[in-house]
Amino acid sequence: MEKIAFIGLGNMGGPMAANLVGSGYSVTAFDLSAPALEQAVANGCGRGESAEQAVHGADVVISMLPSGDAVKSLYLGARGLLQALDAHTLVIDCSTISANDARQLIAAAGERDIRAVDAPVSGGTAAAAAGTLSFMCGGDAGSVDAARPFLKAMGANIFHAGPAGSGQVAKICNNMLLAIHMIGTAEALQLGVDNGLDPKVLSDIMKASSGGNWSLEKYNPYPGVMENVPASNSYAGGFAVALMLKDLGLAMDTAAGSASSTPLGALAKNLYQLHGGTEENCRLDFSSIQNLFRRPAGD
Ligand code: NAD
Repeated sequence: MEKIAFIGLGNMGGPMAANLVGSGYSVTAFDLSAPALEQAVANGCGRGESAEQAVHGADVVISMLPSGDAVKSLYLGARGLLQALDAHTLVIDCSTISANDARQLIAAAGERDIRAVDAPVSGGTAAAAAGTLSFMCGGDAGSVDAARPFLKAMGANIFHAGPAGSGQVAKICNNMLLAIHMIGTAEALQLGVDNGLDPKVLSDIMKASSGGNWSLEKYNPYPGVMENVPASNSYAGGFAVALMLKDLGLAMDTAAGSASSTPLGALAKNLYQLHGGTEENCRLDFSSIQNLFRRPAGD
């Protein structure tokens, strides 16, 4: 079986690497954070003392990093990982980064005959743990097909969105829409509550009506309406406001690059910026945007 190197073992990468181990792959892991690396080793990964050491002898390198700068500093430049990889290696970058950064990585890999794809994910930490992520891939068809068996070990849906960078474009389109319907859902629920409705009853009505959407049905932002969602756990865990802000920033940059009109996306970014004004709020799950609309008790 192919040998895999996995770089970036945070909230997402940790469980993704564990699922590859669970599927029988030999995975050597590396993370700058010692506790993250320890957890990966406890989950059955081999310990990489550095990124260079982790990729030694690897057939496939998978990365799950916080930003485009982190991805570029890992792979590119005279001391970047691409210099250390054999020509046959397959690179799968699952981080959410700009389409331009993804294209730069894939082009640089191509110059060394290394196959590479962008494969950002949708689904969050629960899907990462359950192995049910959706992957949105960009790259040539041969490279995406080569990535499929590894992605299957971590996800339920694998889409080929188009050439290099297309996975990232699909990802930010999806997350821009997610932000918009999460805010709309929070706004509508608050309007109902302010006018005497039970948020659970209103949710049931809208779920069966034309206002139904994923935020309402699967990730209800009003505390107590659904069990097992961040809203019913003080908005802890889940998908942080800071990460949603990053994705909305990428969406706005992409829109500027293509002169596309995205008025609701821009407003959504503005509202998340307002809500994420404190470090504490930035760490909360993105459904905590409900708090922007809620009135203080007694009002
Ligand atoms: P995280 O901050 O929990 O994990 C990132 C990890 O990368 C950290 O452990 C950090 O130490 C490590 N790291 C950073 N630079 C490194 C380097 N040069 N070498 C080795 N390790 C390095 O972030 P996360 O929540 O796991 O998210 C990872 C990516 O997945 C992000 O791009 C995010 O936008 C995307 N994403 C996250 C979610 C989610 O729900 N958390 C959902 C979809 C997509």
